[in-house]
Amino acid sequence: MSACETHTTDVLIVGAGFAGLVMAERLSNELGLSCVVVDKRDHIGGNAYDYYDHAGVLVHKYGPHYFRSNSKKVIDYLSQYTEWRPVEYRVSSYTEGQYWSFPINLTTYEQLIGKPATSAEFEAWLESVREDIPTPQNSEEVITSQVGRELYEKFFKGYTQKQWKRDPSELDSSVCGRVPIRTNRDERYLREEFQAMPKEGYTVLFEKLIKATPNVEIELEQDWEAAREKWTYKHLIFTGPIDAYFNYSLGKLPYRSLKFEHESFQGNELEERESVSGSPTHWQPEMQVNYPSLDVDFTRIVEIKHATGQKIEATTIVREYPADYEDTAEPYYPVPMASSKALYKQYEALAQKEENVTFLGRLGTYRYYNMDQVVAMALKQFENLKKEAHLAP
Ligand code: FAD
Ligand code: UDP
Repeated sequence: MSACETHTTDVLIVGAGFAGLVMAERLSNELGLSCVVVDKRDHIGGNAYDYYDHAGVLVHKYGPHYFRSNSKKVIDYLSQYTEWRPVEYRVSSYTEGQYWSFPINLTTYEQLIGKPATSAEFEAWLESVREDIPTPQNSEEVITSQVGRELYEKFFKGYTQKQWKRDPSELDSSVCGRVPIRTNRDERYLREEFQAMPKEGYTVLFEKLIKATPNVEIELEQDWEAAREKWTYKHLIFTGPIDAYFNYSLGKLPYRSLKFEHESFQGNELEERESVSGSPTHWQPEMQVNYPSLDVDFTRIVEIKHATGQKIEATTIVREYPADYEDTAEPYYPVPMASSKALYKQYEALAQKEENVTFLGRLGTYRYYNMDQVVAMALKQFENLKKEAHLAP
């Protein structure tokens, strides 16, 4: 094929993550449209991609992905392509030389005061320390209004400063507000009713979805710039960063990034840590340990084997170091704060003027969304697209 030869498809989809692949499946299977999905990476799955590393451990390349949802529609949809392994995601926080039960719950309070307590006693204590802020406006206020300053500083302030390179007071309340605070003994990290991992992993889920979608072609290691030269199409679904699509014409949206440091262990190395991990085949006691102190540069260490339940002697841990987007070129997190929301709104206005283009997903709509929210967004947008005359079968 010559470099300038063009090819035709009904829909060109940029990004092979949850947003792009769910949309491809729907457009192809329900409307019979041909779809080409391009991704600049060398694999499908977007940030949810998982793979077996050199130690044979199933790991998540872009940080831990804990599936959770309250949406029956989303769970039913994905269940066509995977069985689930129920998991109660558990996390602890390591600071001041000890592991703390986290998210904050009755056990955390008992650790703080060094003796047993009841929920009523904890609630009375919280009442005495929480700050009187009826409508929290930012991530500092959302925590201090619930648990007061001591616990905010112990568990949230340093972690958030490291993760976002901003003070919690600059960030939307939804950022720290993601983390539940409880006065009972429920130690699960997440709130949603359904908490589970795809039994064989995310990549297998995506492979099954693609296999069930005959009219879709996947082209990896191809970015939007090359794809727009190669393909003619009736409609474009864009799941990359919205500001990049518009050549940053209104300025750059801020993103926060990460660097991942993987380390694998087996045999004696793990047996020697058994007093810490409680198991000869694990490195740490929980799936995830958060490090809120500014004394260490990383924010968390994840040992995903706790959640996948993989039966293997070796294990792999991943330390997460917050990083500037400019250093990694990986826009992992949109930054929820007033100024970035305002800039996004301006891009959104431009997006609405684009003909036959849909912006979708975490980057396309600049939203700090979980996987299930992105799947729900794709299913909803598909219903809108069904009404578009130029896509009518
Ligand atoms: P992505 O998965 O980011 O996919 C977008 C794709 O577009 C990428 O593959 C990218 O390479 C491609 N792309 C971008 N620009 C271009 C271009 N110009 N040309 C070609 N291709 C392009 N969610 C949860 O529910 N639970 C969790 O525990 C969880 N943990 C997370 C941990 C981390 C560290 C991160 C970063 C995210 C986490 N998420 C979690 C969020 C989850 O990753 C997203 O909700 C989901 O992956 C979004 O899917 P998407 O398709 O919108 O975007
Ligand atoms: N957070 C914190 N301390 C913790 C855990 C979380 O301060 O121990 C804050 C931090 O700002 C983080 C946000 O809460 O970015 C959301 O936490 P979550 O674990 O949901 O982050 P994600 O998994 O999305 O990176």
